[in-house]
Amino acid sequence: MAASYGAKVGICEDYRVGGTCVIRGCVPKKLFVYAAEYSSHFSDAPGFGWSAADHNFDWPSLIAAKDKEIDRLNGLYIANLKNHNVEIIQARGRLRDRHTVELTSAAGKRNITADKILIATGGWPQMPSVPGIEYAISSNEAFHLDQFPERVAVVGGGYIAVEFAGIFNGLGATTHLLYRGEQILRGFDRDITDKLNEEMGKKGVDVRVHTRVTAITKTADGLSLALSDGTVLGVDVVMYATGRVANSRNIGLEDIGVELKPGGAIIVDENYKTSVDNIFALGDVIGRVQLTPVAIKEGAALAATQFNDTPTVVDYGNIPTAVFSQPPIGTIGLTEAEAVAEYGDDIHIYKSEYKSMKFTLSGRPERSLMKMITQASTDRVIGIHMIGPDAAEIIQGLAIAMNCGATKAQFDMTVAVHPSSAEEFVLMK
Ligand code: NDP
Repeated sequence: MAASYGAKVGICEDYRVGGTCVIRGCVPKKLFVYAAEYSSHFSDAPGFGWSAADHNFDWPSLIAAKDKEIDRLNGLYIANLKNHNVEIIQARGRLRDRHTVELTSAAGKRNITADKILIATGGWPQMPSVPGIEYAISSNEAFHLDQFPERVAVVGGGYIAVEFAGIFNGLGATTHLLYRGEQILRGFDRDITDKLNEEMGKKGVDVRVHTRVTAITKTADGLSLALSDGTVLGVDVVMYATGRVANSRNIGLEDIGVELKPGGAIIVDENYKTSVDNIFALGDVIGRVQLTPVAIKEGAALAATQFNDTPTVVDYGNIPTAVFSQPPIGTIGLTEAEAVAEYGDDIHIYKSEYKSMKFTLSGRPERSLMKMITQASTDRVIGIHMIGPDAAEIIQGLAIAMNCGATKAQFDMTVAVHPSSAEEFVLMK
């Protein structure tokens, strides 16, 4: 975007362009989620008259297809950058002074200077210090396992943990989800997370809350996890999804006075300016909201402000988000707990819990839950939460309505799309 406004731009990247999202995050993850959902589709099929057939899953085929798609996207990113005359510099960068980046590559070292420098180095999985942690993988490695594991433990209870637990389970592994707290997806609406725990259990994931791994040891047939309740769990793979930290070390930031928070996130103002005024940072490396579309908005705002004379500030309110768990979650606005904290008893809660039409013939025991929270005195919708098929697709449209300040009466006035799940949101009483 900066280049499209006329800036001369170079990108220093030592691996591939596209970032976590494209290379080892959202995109390959979603492809894996689609793959994992087939096991449920196959078991639903007889209810619709299809006879059962043999279904064999081949992990190497999925990995190869996924890698091909990532290569394609990577190629598109490169082409797009080239079309805008952005120079891609394949090297490792380190700041030497406020205008100079030292580039290290197989060809040796050289310096490049720039008027303005943007740090968009993202984040990296955080692995806690547990004895034997060297035997664990993160989601980075999960995308490239040579062999599909028969038994997997996923440690954590956030986005990545629940998404990967669903993936491993759906693809056929015996899957355990080990979370240290009271309920997975802390910070999400509690009705939704209770439902996710229940539905994951129905699908066969062994969800254990209040559970910590105290040690990991290698055994003859895999790994042995010592758990905080004194039991031992045997698995082939243990994947940690215990948060991601800013990728801000060893690139020279501290040497030139760019201030970091204790965890490593770069401190920036509302225009993404760091403590050095020609150096900017955004995305996961500033540790605000670790979501791709938010980073894109931040980048767009920075480019417009710096290179198009259009000062732009990102609005971080009401960010919709989806968790591609099975079933998936879509959410925007306040949870019930947050609404109570902010508005006390000036709120109304509407809920709808139902079996999706798709599962009536198939007999799948899955149930969906939708929840809407309004401020009673203004009728304004302040929170929308859903767990069930297509939640991510449904929440996007509702997010627009909510950001326009829609009231419950306006939802009620809207004609339902029938038969659909989404119609529940305009029929809630
Ligand atoms: P999250 O911050 O979402 O979750 C981290 C989880 O790990 C929490 O459950 C946390 O527990 C637990 N945890 C943290 N430290 C430890 C520890 N030492 N021992 C045991 N458990 C621990 O991080 P993720 O890694 O899941 O994902 C990183 C970010 O990436 C997310 O916050 C999200 O913004 C983004 N993301 C978005 C996706 C999407 O949009 N669909 C998909 C994947 C990632 P506790 O709750 O107790 O703190």
